[in-house]
Amino acid sequence: MLNNPSVIELLSLSAIGCIEEIPETSNTIKGNAIQKAQYVYEKYGYNCFADDTGLEIDALNGEPGVYSARYAGEQKSNEDNMEKVLSQLKDKSNRNARFKTVIALIIDGKLTCFEGIVEGEITKEKSGSEGFGYDPIFKPKGYGKTFSEMSMTEKNNISHRGKAIIKLINHLKK
Ligand code: IMP
Repeated sequence: MLNNPSVIELLSLSAIGCIEEIPETSNTIKGNAIQKAQYVYEKYGYNCFADDTGLEIDALNGEPGVYSARYAGEQKSNEDNMEKVLSQLKDKSNRNARFKTVIALIIDGKLTCFEGIVEGEITKEKSGSEGFGYDPIFKPKGYGKTFSEMSMTEKNNISHRGKAIIKLINHLKK
């Protein structure tokens, strides 16, 4: 809830009675973030923000992108998703990829978006035990280890989501 500029009270979706699955039908990450924020703003009347994240792999024409969570099927298995990526890239020399997060903020009907990107590459095999999703196969540029081999603090300092959140916080502080 973002109604008083000096006080921000954060309410979860369940706290405002939103327990249904929010539609995410856009073919872009930004479009999905906006769709989710607009859904809550219009249906529940709260100022809000919503995020969406995807992994874009150059050699796969930007896939999995908006399909990141269910790349290998509706079971939404991280292991299956990583196996699919590794197998699709088996014969590819270009392993460049990026994580992209977009946060859509709506205050009194005004939409503002914040983007965070981390460039990197897909490794040949999984390594590390931290994190989630594609972390074991994503090595950020300039680092000799995957997200999964980093502590949560180390990852958050350089991650797509961390960058987008810092932009959101700086905007709210203005
Ligand atoms: P969401 O939009 O945050 O739900 O992210 C969609 C999917 O992208 C997740 O289910 C993960 O598979 C993947 N993903 C998002 N953020 C990360 C991350 O920080 N590391 C690894 N995978 C991620």
